[in-house]
Amino acid sequence: MSALYGTYARSALAFERGEGVRLFAQDGRPYLDFHSGIAVNSLGYGDKHVIGALQAAAEKVWHTSNVFTIPEQEKLGQRLVDATFADSVFFTNSGAEAVECAIKTARHYQFAKGQPEKVEIIAFTGSFHGRTLGTIAAGGNPSYLEGFGPALPGFKHLAPGDLAAVEALITPQTCGILIEPVQGEGGVTAMSTEFLRGLRALCDQHDMVLIFDEVQCGYGRTGKFFAYEWTGIVPDVMAVAKGIGGGFPLGACLAKGEVAKSMVPGTHGSTYGGNPLACAVGNAVLDRILSPGFIDHVEKMGQRLAWHLQQLQQRFPTLVVEQRGKGLIAGIKITPPVRDFVARLRDNHQLLAVAAGDNVLRLLPPLVVTEADIEEAVGKIADAFAAYEKDAAASATA
Ligand SMILES: *Cc1c(COP(=O)(O)O)cnc(C)c1O
Repeated sequence: MSALYGTYARSALAFERGEGVRLFAQDGRPYLDFHSGIAVNSLGYGDKHVIGALQAAAEKVWHTSNVFTIPEQEKLGQRLVDATFADSVFFTNSGAEAVECAIKTARHYQFAKGQPEKVEIIAFTGSFHGRTLGTIAAGGNPSYLEGFGPALPGFKHLAPGDLAAVEALITPQTCGILIEPVQGEGGVTAMSTEFLRGLRALCDQHDMVLIFDEVQCGYGRTGKFFAYEWTGIVPDVMAVAKGIGGGFPLGACLAKGEVAKSMVPGTHGSTYGGNPLACAVGNAVLDRILSPGFIDHVEKMGQRLAWHLQQLQQRFPTLVVEQRGKGLIAGIKITPPVRDFVARLRDNHQLLAVAAGDNVLRLLPPLVVTEADIEEAVGKIADAFAAYEKDAAASATA
């Protein structure tokens, strides 16, 4: 019996070591990892540069406080500002905290502008923003809200894609719009460029703050450093986490101009956020992500993965309903129940993948994946489909 909260239906599988895109279980069995700790282990396992940075940081002061200057944090913050739309950064320990900071930033900007009534955030069904009380309200998923008392007020939800419907929800109390450019958890749904541009225009027209949650789709995963770069527009605030620490808990909220400036002393804080250890790792991860050719490689591998998944769909047209995603946040909507299918892939084919909403099989390989790895993974999925068909036929005749 485990001493832990029963919040996860955990597999008994435990990993001992990793190498590149492979994890090795305690019994020595290798697993091909298209899970990456849910889009976190962007550099795979055993990256020498990042390990070296962590080891060097371990010999120094691990933690001070945000009441002192933290040189590693200053450096990482400046580099993120230089590489994005943003002018300022607040570091957190997780994605949910980054989204919380984003929501607070948007509301406080309106407050500082003398518009304290503008508090409502428009968000979308199928989204996921974290598991704190604030972010479950922002996500709006009824199954995550149930049993936890009144949902934090100030959020309205609608299905993504319909600009006129979004516009119809705007009132003088609307503060901003919160959206994942590519929904991860909800079913690997990439928003259209047209829709995201339309949201930007609505925010400009109505003095609202556009917030992108790039916790899962950012940091190189779509084949750009951030997914907003595909659209030609920029958000005002962006939540970042997962890939930013390569496995070390780290997140960030990035903001622009007057919106960022509204967060004055006393408005927000974090004991650990951006501590020396986390930021030393963050800087080393960023060295790798921004090294010449790295993100081009992601884009190329994303195209190859999409091509191989298309072939798979042609081969199994009754099992693969639709292809989803962008770059190396990819998915296929399938007909077999996805949670069982993920377990089959893991237990019978040593492939780690992630279930997403809408019965989508989500593939999130480390960004250093090669085409040979992709062929191997898609081959394993094909084997699992063939085995599934055989089992289905056997149970039909039984
Ligand atoms: C994972 C995720 C979060 C929450 O991140 P945590 O680190 O689990 O708090 C928020 N938004 C998106 C899009 C995510 O994928």
